[in-house]
Amino acid sequence: MAALKKPKNLKLLTVLVPRFCPQVSVRRNLNLQEFHSKDLLKKYQVSVQDFRVIDSKLDTKALADFKADEYVVKAQILAGGRGKGHFDNGFKGGVHLTKNRDEVIKLAKNMIGHKLITKQTPKDGIMVEKVMVAESVNIVRETYFSIVMERSFNGAAIVASPAGGMDIEAVAEKTPHLLKTVPVDIYEGVTDKLANEIAEFLEFKGALKGKCAEEIKKLWQLFLKVDATQLEINPLVETDDGRVISVDAKINFDDNANFRQQEIFALDDLSESDPREREAAALNIVYIDMDGSIGCMVNGAGLAMATMDIITLNGGKAANFLDLGGGVGPKQVSAAMRILESDPKVKTIFINVFGGIVDCATIAQGIITACKERLPKHPIIIRLEGTNSNQARKVLQESGLPLQIIKDVDEAAKTAVKLAQ
Ligand code: GDP
Ligand code: MG
Repeated sequence: MAALKKPKNLKLLTVLVPRFCPQVSVRRNLNLQEFHSKDLLKKYQVSVQDFRVIDSKLDTKALADFKADEYVVKAQILAGGRGKGHFDNGFKGGVHLTKNRDEVIKLAKNMIGHKLITKQTPKDGIMVEKVMVAESVNIVRETYFSIVMERSFNGAAIVASPAGGMDIEAVAEKTPHLLKTVPVDIYEGVTDKLANEIAEFLEFKGALKGKCAEEIKKLWQLFLKVDATQLEINPLVETDDGRVISVDAKINFDDNANFRQQEIFALDDLSESDPREREAAALNIVYIDMDGSIGCMVNGAGLAMATMDIITLNGGKAANFLDLGGGVGPKQVSAAMRILESDPKVKTIFINVFGGIVDCATIAQGIITACKERLPKHPIIIRLEGTNSNQARKVLQESGLPLQIIKDVDEAAKTAVKLAQ
């Protein structure tokens, strides 16, 4: 592998990049379905099973040129634990094996159009729209392999366990000696020595050890080249015919790299995401849905956190985290209002903005426009401070709209909590 060149002025670089690189901002995490992840693995010559994908049309043409002794049928959702999951139609298991081709379609019918509930999904599950049909492999042993960006190492680390399969959290808790975490030097990468050490820890013996080390090096290349923050293979298996295969794959990506990973980011499957999150993301607003009743509109992640804290301190609960960002204009404000108003949990809206870069008058204008477009259903409490705030408050007061403008942040939060009850 070609080693990375060490930049001379590394410290300075890390300070400069976040401030001056316009691509750096917080976005929704990219999620890929298993079949997309496996396509990436194949591209990097990682050994995976041959597969096809069937969608809701249940068109068997997709399987016309596909023959295997045994098939594995897997529901495609953006969550793990599928094997042990169950469907809302009572059907058990999101991963099934069958030797019968006709059975493949029957299994797919039981999955597509139904919600799969697993340990990692919301309570009522996730709708399955596609299934993967792969040639099954005969598994002798299941191991766990992942590469993660680990804060405590200031870089990548390999996490491995010979006890792979479905529940790696239980391994970490009950048998921690079966879990190994090894930092990877970003400039050296995964050397032959490191790859062999990991393969040995994973208990691959003889020729299989070398094969496993090769897989590990390819997985590292993939991790590096696609700007991944996490690559998890659970299970990485040994087969009865002497192969080492990645049977399941989950990849997380560095969202700040989307400008150079456009092909991958174009695969983003938004069908499972909250429509409010989608609308917010399109306008570069950070929006995270939560379970309280006070809809928050704030600028800056720090102030958004502080706002949630102050709501909690006063006995209330935020319905969301919403960061308008720095360069906010009336368009964002009115979209944010729309997002909050469309949330059935919201009983009160609390707007807490500190105008540093942003002019408070811009925020005020955005609020007024949004309220005139659609008369608000809920009480709106506004706390505006900073650049041009006197003028902004005056504009809001004179708008004739039912807005409560409160100067003191604590008082504003108390009022929001009271009105939400
Ligand atoms: P998850 O439950 O969402 O993590 O889905 P996986 O793809 O990891 O599959 C769950 C389990 O099904 C694996 O741990 C294996 O035990 C089993 N499995 C998956 N694919 C195959 C296969 O091709 N052959 C066999 N024999 N078992 C498989
Ligand atoms: Mg798995």
